[in-house]
Amino acid sequence: MSMILGRAPSTRKADFSLEQWQSRMRRHGPTQEDSRPTAGAFSARFTPRRTRFGQALCSALRALLFYVTVAAPAHAQTTFAPSGVTPIELSMPIDCTLGQDCFIQNYVDMDPGPGAKDFMCGPLAYDNHQGTDFRLRNRNALSRPYAALAAAPGTVVQVINNQPDHGFREGAFTSLDCGNAVMIDHGGGWMSQYCHLAEGSVTVQRGQQVQRSQPIGNIGSSGGTSFPHLHYAIRNNNATISPFTGVSPTGCDAAEAGPLWQNPGNIFYADSAILGFGVSSIEPTLERMENGTLNAPPSDPHAPVHVWAHIMGVQSGDTIRFTARAPNGNIIASERFPIPETGRIFSAGIGFAPQDSGVPFWPSGTYQAQLAFYRGGQEIGTRSSSFTFP
Ligand SMILES: [Zn+2]
Repeated sequence: MSMILGRAPSTRKADFSLEQWQSRMRRHGPTQEDSRPTAGAFSARFTPRRTRFGQALCSALRALLFYVTVAAPAHAQTTFAPSGVTPIELSMPIDCTLGQDCFIQNYVDMDPGPGAKDFMCGPLAYDNHQGTDFRLRNRNALSRPYAALAAAPGTVVQVINNQPDHGFREGAFTSLDCGNAVMIDHGGGWMSQYCHLAEGSVTVQRGQQVQRSQPIGNIGSSGGTSFPHLHYAIRNNNATISPFTGVSPTGCDAAEAGPLWQNPGNIFYADSAILGFGVSSIEPTLERMENGTLNAPPSDPHAPVHVWAHIMGVQSGDTIRFTARAPNGNIIASERFPIPETGRIFSAGIGFAPQDSGVPFWPSGTYQAQLAFYRGGQEIGTRSSSFTFP
């Protein structure tokens, strides 16, 4: 049996005003804020014997799991209205359902120092991240369009629509960090920024008035991005504001003005989510999980079977367990992975061959694979999948 663990995917920063984008990119080139998943991070080879492999976990970037924390943090007010600042109410900036087909991978970094903390003092942020990253499960999710939506009424003040979609290929990004972008002036000093839209997908023009929830373009792979997401940023008089707290980054436990979300119950904090789980005939690298290309079920009864999990947000001390059962219910593989390090993305997999079970090939029938995810001794998430050999 083999075991594999992977590294965090990444974003680069895309957090400056449109006016600054060009000059900054020319001066510094693309900034590699986080590392991409790399092949080297994956040390997994199937071995025909039940040998446990080393593990390596993701990233020095912190992280956390499961849509366990469902409720939005309690706030006495629902709009941002300190004296002198015009209130604003924001709605969902992307047409998806949180916890189902999209997930917040990174929040505004509320730590003013060199570290990073999200507004719940968790690790779902990276240093100086000034927006909210609404991610899709994997790159394959972009096979259908996901619309970016105007979070509030306003006037489009800038559009970039000609940046190539690089398809998240390593090293392919050479241009504007924010990629194809829209900036909307909501009045009262409020400005929204949308990054990484698909080339040619922007449907609004400079000077155009937009209504709340009006589609403005589609999620793409332009600019400094290594996973499919909308980077959405809101500023007031050029100051970054966390839409979850209504205040600028001054510490994750600082006083809050209240979330800017019109309906905070629908845009909630979640410290973890299972992005993917499945059974595969090919080795489940993190790159393949990010690509969403591990859908082919095992079909060769002489070949090893792999079970894998792709998780957003893990905490040191979490564990996961893979279990696979033969058609008669006997356990043919069971492996527990302690998660040693808090991280934003975690991936793991096991592989097992018929010889591991003492048979020359997989007998016909329907097999079951399960994932169980534990935190503090409690099961906080499960997934199951079946596969059949004729
Ligand atoms: Zn971002």
